[in-house]
Amino acid sequence: MNVTNPYSVRVRFAPSPTGYLHVGGLRTALYNYLFAKHNGGKFLLRIEDTDQSRKVEGAVENLIATLDWAGVHYDEGPNRDGGHGPYVQSQRLDLYHKYARQLVEQGNAYYCFCTPERLEEVRKKQQAQKLSPKYDGHCRFIPAEEAKRRRESGEMSVVRMKIPDGGETAFEDIIRGRVTIANSILDDQVILKSDGFPTYHLAVVVDDHLMEISHIIRGEEWLPSTPKHVLLYRYFGWDMPQFAHLPLLLNPDKSKLSKRQGDVAVEDYRAKGYFKEALVNFVAFLGWNPGDEREVFTMDELVKEFSLERVGKAGAVFNIEKLDWFQFQHLQKKTDNEMLTLLKGQLKSSGISNTFQDSYLLGVIGAMRERATFVRDFVEKSPYFFTPPLEYDAAVVKKRWKPDSSAKLTKLSEEFSMLSNPTKEDFEAALQRTAEALKIGNGELIHPLRLAVSGLGAGPGLYDILFILGKDETIKRIKTAIEKIQ
Ligand code: GLU
Repeated sequence: MNVTNPYSVRVRFAPSPTGYLHVGGLRTALYNYLFAKHNGGKFLLRIEDTDQSRKVEGAVENLIATLDWAGVHYDEGPNRDGGHGPYVQSQRLDLYHKYARQLVEQGNAYYCFCTPERLEEVRKKQQAQKLSPKYDGHCRFIPAEEAKRRRESGEMSVVRMKIPDGGETAFEDIIRGRVTIANSILDDQVILKSDGFPTYHLAVVVDDHLMEISHIIRGEEWLPSTPKHVLLYRYFGWDMPQFAHLPLLLNPDKSKLSKRQGDVAVEDYRAKGYFKEALVNFVAFLGWNPGDEREVFTMDELVKEFSLERVGKAGAVFNIEKLDWFQFQHLQKKTDNEMLTLLKGQLKSSGISNTFQDSYLLGVIGAMRERATFVRDFVEKSPYFFTPPLEYDAAVVKKRWKPDSSAKLTKLSEEFSMLSNPTKEDFEAALQRTAEALKIGNGELIHPLRLAVSGLGAGPGLYDILFILGKDETIKRIKTAIEKIQ
């Protein structure tokens, strides 16, 4: 895209540390990251912790760890100084005070002494008149001298920005085009609270300016706040960054994405075994697409292709089946060596002691990969590769194990025992020979044999299983099955 700002691309992800990284937050972070990397710019992380009542211990560390896991690495931020810090708002209070004072002195803001009780009364009256609640401007015209005296005498106050009486405030949004809002619906927003902390609106504008942010890419829920920010930029006489408000994330029933309909924390998906590649790919497509049929992308490919022009306005549906599809695709893309490491990790966490040769595990990977979405599927869908079947699927026994199956499998077992280092094809040929000798169809051997070696009625190719297990193990399992099933 054409970057019209005088300085280079600098974007930020500015979460409030509420305890975990929401998938919507991951999308915002990712789009900022992709945009920065695509344009050779910088991606900043800024912690917006001005609401002290919502503070959660360990939330920042968790957030950073989760972003790191996802591969969304920031160039500047906490513990990565880029000369624009501190990157935590609670460490920047002096700056907000200074700029709030400047606005008061310029006449763009004022001290408000209204008590919570008075504000509540105003709100009730407005409600009764069916007006939308809004500050009534009671303290707007208190002379500076009087305000000073009252503050010095210890009276509690906040600072409110002045919204112009009439007219409109407009700005350009890269995704939405021109956005215009009547000033009459804007409130004289509190920008500095009585506890000395700024509200989001003042802090975000001051920080985005001082951190030289060129593009503000954030969720649509912040769109109604933007006119207030635009006014603040004007009051300060600062260059305006460009805005891009990302579409809402929706549940499949088109309601706003919520906890009630499923997990929203990135760490939950991580714990369930989703690859970061899959989650990132999936999240990238929640609002963006490359304009053609391609869907499976690595992070590098996303960086190459990403543009804000290809982000839509319409809400994006968070569809778990699609996430699973991406997970499957990315599992297919892993190299054998990557899968080997992952499978070993899975055996460990499943409590299966790994007495297997790498070549054995690679055989399992080859046979099972196309049937697996998650790494745990190797163990859960084909446990028989790691432990001989302890029981046999009752429904399959009923359907496939005939009174003469034992005799037939005994014959087959004899045929197998004459093979030396059999390949897949050797097993197959031996089975065919046995079927011919017994004058029966292959199926009368194949089905009970699969049951005997795996305990199940379905799975990867039977001869693949036999080859992986090897001759001795196959014969042993046939013998055990005959004893146990009869
Ligand atoms: N602190 C806001 C949040 O929690 C940041 C909004 C913005 O990016 O301006 O999402």
